[in-house]
Order: sequence, then C-alpha cells, then structure tokens
Amino acid sequence: MIELIGMDLAELEKMSKDQGQPSFRGKQLFSWLYDKRVSSFDEMTNLPKRWREELKEKAKISYPQVVDRQVNSMDGTTKYLLELTDGNTIEAVLLRYRHGNSVCISTQVGCQMGCRFCASTIGGLQRNLTASEMLAQLLAIYRDWPTEEEEKRISHVVLMGIGEPLENYEEVMKFLRLVHEPAGFNISYRNITLSTSGLIWGIRKLMKEELPITLAVSLHAPNDALRSTLMPINKKNPLKQLIPVCNEYGESTGRRVTYEYILIDRVNDRVEHARELANLLRGSLAHVNLIPLNPVEERDFNPSKPEAVTKFRDILSERGISVTVRRELGKEIDAACGQLRRSREKL
Ligand code: SF4
Repeated sequence: MIELIGMDLAELEKMSKDQGQPSFRGKQLFSWLYDKRVSSFDEMTNLPKRWREELKEKAKISYPQVVDRQVNSMDGTTKYLLELTDGNTIEAVLLRYRHGNSVCISTQVGCQMGCRFCASTIGGLQRNLTASEMLAQLLAIYRDWPTEEEEKRISHVVLMGIGEPLENYEEVMKFLRLVHEPAGFNISYRNITLSTSGLIWGIRKLMKEELPITLAVSLHAPNDALRSTLMPINKKNPLKQLIPVCNEYGESTGRRVTYEYILIDRVNDRVEHARELANLLRGSLAHVNLIPLNPVEERDFNPSKPEAVTKFRDILSERGISVTVRRELGKEIDAACGQLRRSREKL
C-alpha cells in the first residue's frame, strides 16, 4: 500500500501518471490531502469514481490516533498523545496565541540526547519519524479541533516536541517543504521554528538551505562546565564554537536566534548565571526565552522561585538582552516534553 500522507506534489503527480491518470490529478489529490484535509477517498469528489476505487486498493491515508488529550482550561493549550500505526506514541501540542495557533510537533520517537531535565530521553531513542508522520500530527489536530470554533487555522509550527530534529535531518527538511507548500498548509517559513540542543554540524547544514526559519537553541547554562552537566552534547558542541555558529545563522538568515533557558532552582538561576549569560550573548542577534522548569518525576530538579525568575529576567534586560518569560503550561496538563508519553507508559 502506498502511504499518501507525506508525498509531495511531484510524487503525487508521478503516482497519478503511473496509474494512467493525467498529472493534474496529482494536484487535486494534493489539495484533498493537505488543504481540504480529508481522510477518505470517497470525499475526493472531483476524482473519477473508478480511480477512487482503485486508490482504495492501492493507497492509504494514515492519521495517528488521539489516545489522550489534556486541555489547559485557562488558555486552551491542548497536549495530545498520538499513537502511530506501529503502536509507538508521540506528543504534539496546540498552543493558542493572539497572533495565531501554533503546533509543537515531535520529530523522533524518544530521544538519545540525554538532557538531564527531560522526560523524553529517559527511554532512549526508538526511531526517527518520517515526514509523513510529522505532517500527520498537524492533520490529527485539525481533525480533533472543536467543531464550534470558527478560526481553525494552524499558522505557526514549532519543532520542539520529542526528539532532536537535526538528528533526523532529511525527513525534517522534507516536512518543512511540505508544510510550507502554498497549495497545502501554506505555512510561511518565517512562522516555523526549529529547536535544537545545539548540534553545530546540523546548524551549519541548515544554514546552507537558506530558509528563513527561526533557530531556537536549548542553552540552559551560561558556561561549558554547567552546560555539560545538564546536556551531555555540550562536550562535543561547546559554547565557544556553538555561539559563533548561531551568530552566523542569525546573520545569514536575518532571523534572530532564540535561546531557550530552562530555569532550575539553585542550579542555573543565580545572579552570576544571569550576568554570565548576558556577557555570552552580548552583541548577538539573539532573544532569550526563559522557561520555568516543568518538574519531571524521575529527575531531582525543582523550578526556580518566581523572585529568581524575575531577577534573572531583569538582569538580562538591564544589559540590553531581549528576553521574555514563557507562559507556563500549567499543572493541569503534563507540561514537560515527553511527560504525557511517560505517564502513559507507566500505566
Ligand atoms: S530536551 Fe530535546 S534534545 Fe534534550 S533530551 Fe529532551 S527531547 Fe532530546
């Protein structure tokens, strides 16, 4: 069976021709899959009936199943646990902002990067996701969208769920091109953010694509000694090499690099850490996103006190660093990345 989700326009046109159809049928299929987002061939009413019957025999449209959904009653943020066709589970999150709806997707099943504060890496990496499975996360959320809501449009995509996107480079690139395609999801590259733990080779490779997507780098510490204890990848990707490459990325794309900084009580949230961070980023086209830690049961870390968060932000701001504090997703949902998947695995 041919999986249609994840095929781009050229692939759908070729498949149509291979099956004796004119190539414009590929365009029609593309629109049904990614613009109208139907999940059965019977709904594709402008395709010849006989070909629809043939497609039922030869092709499939796979959406992941929503196995759990947690909604934050304050702001409508919805966290999904999705089951793939092979039984693996991943997470995706729908975030509601004034500027539009954003979906945070996973790029791998599990993760091998070993960040010490993260639930997604506890069971290691199972496998990479295909571009099809990344796209299907958006489709599953569209399908699950409450019917009473008028504005059903995903305008922003963030690759910040389970996994390290740059470790799954080729499929991530295919996904980015598909989700940007104007005849389908039509999401501007400027509305896409790719988050990495800081793989220097991957950032360099991404820069060569010349796509104006925002790069977000998980920093979480202002010096190598501390960062290496929180993120093992820092040993091979130290800050003195990472920050210049990020600066280069910012200059070549014209996009400000975002540095994610999870604030952990008495680990990386002291006044001296804030000063050191300001020095590290001085002169960079950068924005710092401070994230109060979402505690993970298996990890012995606590979130910073609200006073420490405010102080940290003020020190950066006073030193001319652009900084915001990310709103908390709250305790109503298993907010930390990988936490919902973990809690399900333990049942
Ligand atoms: S924070 Fe991201 S890169 Fe680090 S272990 Fe978790 S999923 Fe992987």
